[in-house]
Amino acid sequence: MGLLNICGANITICFACLLVSCAVSRQEDEPVETRPNILFIMGDDHTTQAISAYGGFLSEYAQTRHIDQLASEGMLFSNVFCTNSICSPSRATILTGKYSHKNGVQILGQEFDGSQFTVQQALKESGYQTALFGKWHLRSQPTGFDDYKVLPVQGRYQDPEFYVKGEDSLQMYQGWSTDVITNMTTEFLDNRDPSSPFLVMTHYKATHDPWASRPPYDTLWSHQDLPEPPNLYDEYANRSQAAQRTTLKLEQINQRTFPHHRLQNAQWREQRAHIYQQYIKSFLRCGRVLDENVGKLVAYLKKNGLYDNTVIIYTADQGHFLGEHGFFSKRFMYDEALRMPLIIRFPKWVQANSTNQDMIINADFAPTILEMAGVNIPQDIQGRSFLNNLRAQTPAYWRQEIYYHYWQHILHRDVAAHIGIRTRDYKLIFYYGLPLGLTSYEATDPEWEMFDLRNDPMEMNNVYGIPSYSGALDTLQQKLRHLQITFDDQGLEYPEMVQVQQAYFNLDD
Ligand code: CA
Repeated sequence: MGLLNICGANITICFACLLVSCAVSRQEDEPVETRPNILFIMGDDHTTQAISAYGGFLSEYAQTRHIDQLASEGMLFSNVFCTNSICSPSRATILTGKYSHKNGVQILGQEFDGSQFTVQQALKESGYQTALFGKWHLRSQPTGFDDYKVLPVQGRYQDPEFYVKGEDSLQMYQGWSTDVITNMTTEFLDNRDPSSPFLVMTHYKATHDPWASRPPYDTLWSHQDLPEPPNLYDEYANRSQAAQRTTLKLEQINQRTFPHHRLQNAQWREQRAHIYQQYIKSFLRCGRVLDENVGKLVAYLKKNGLYDNTVIIYTADQGHFLGEHGFFSKRFMYDEALRMPLIIRFPKWVQANSTNQDMIINADFAPTILEMAGVNIPQDIQGRSFLNNLRAQTPAYWRQEIYYHYWQHILHRDVAAHIGIRTRDYKLIFYYGLPLGLTSYEATDPEWEMFDLRNDPMEMNNVYGIPSYSGALDTLQQKLRHLQITFDDQGLEYPEMVQVQQAYFNLDD
């Protein structure tokens, strides 16, 4: 203002001309990039109970302060659910926006068809620089990425090997897997073309088994016990044979996972308590290394002027039992395995320290990222963008229930194949118990479980068949059938599936 006062009107006109000329020349050269960068950080099995921002019985010990900081500056979602709670299928759903039976990865070990539509390919075609570092677990070589370095299957924590884009053989990187994956991410960002935006997917191996950690976290709580979940000693009374049959119980955990031997001549309760302590300490220590690395990524973005123009997404491929029901691992439709963490920071769209309770599924991730990047969402995508929800403007007709399908019948941990619906108040699970050509195990007896989540959030009391719930059951069965039709998953191509559903569904239609 002082300058204009001194130099008079002529200078003012020239200054205005200069502004116009700048705008014109910028327009002529190239448009100002307004699309955000996207950093998609995914832990493996890093369940909400292990993230202190979510509260919970372990929050005092989890202490994920860097992830918590993202939540305090962004939005924490509390009702995000996976559609098939196991690694490869959830990853395929995240990349495609489709359920397992549509993207072709229904169980572990199936090869992902990289020629199908993926979010990374679409963003790449729209001018984004795309990269993936860390866990892939989809067998085929990744497609749609300008650069990638991916672990073979699960990879290992110490001195991990990677498939590197453009290299024929595995390359070994010295160091701790979590640190190595962070370094790969920042190295890519250092060398990127700053004139176009990026989508970088940083997929850590942590906190997958064998839940290893490094100093200074590997000796935490050596001389103290951590709290137990209230249903650690679940005996599965009145519940499904599926829950009773599974080998997800802590006392059945793979012996190679832990250095300490089991107690000799101990009863199951004592054994479960003993293994739980080893398990939970290992899991949370592993999570501390992961959280430290999220902090390193944030520090990098801040140092390089990218913190406020990058959408930072933190999630995991599914939830995980941390001793609830006496279980470890995932697979079941019970809430601890079903629920995914999701925290998003981007000040331009997201109010700091906000929370969201909308029902979101992992198939929604791809369309949301597409909309963030201004890319069209294909018609056949089954998820729905939640960008408006993120902006605190949830659409009026947002979904009120989610549909789930676990296909991997019995394989690995003896969990029967099941479908189900979760509403805000109830959960209905149908263990149809058929391999459907995907596994080689015998069929198990079909059975139902139903939970009144308002009165029984720990899912300990199966109310299926109780007369006072018959109205709710009818409604849930109708909705479940409707969801099967919506997602084209009625199983009509499997005569045995049709037969089982006809015998066990009590529907009017
Ligand atoms: Ca996983």
